[in-house]
Amino acid sequence: MPIYEFECKKCGKKFERLIFPSDDKNPGCPECNHEDVQKIMSSGCKVTLKVPAGYSGGSSCAPSG
Ligand SMILES: [Zn+2]
Repeated sequence: MPIYEFECKKCGKKFERLIFPSDDKNPGCPECNHEDVQKIMSSGCKVTLKVPAGYSGGSSCAPSG
């Protein structure tokens, strides 16, 4: 699933949206309906992922879903 993360330039709200290659329109902010949102490029990892103490799974880049 092509899920991209966006950040609203107006209110700073971060949200995720499913974007298909054929669907190139701006998703808009769900918080304030502002259309000027910034697509956040990610490397595919949740950098904010918190790993519990003692976790020995190795990778912190597990696919979500
Ligand atoms: Zn907004």
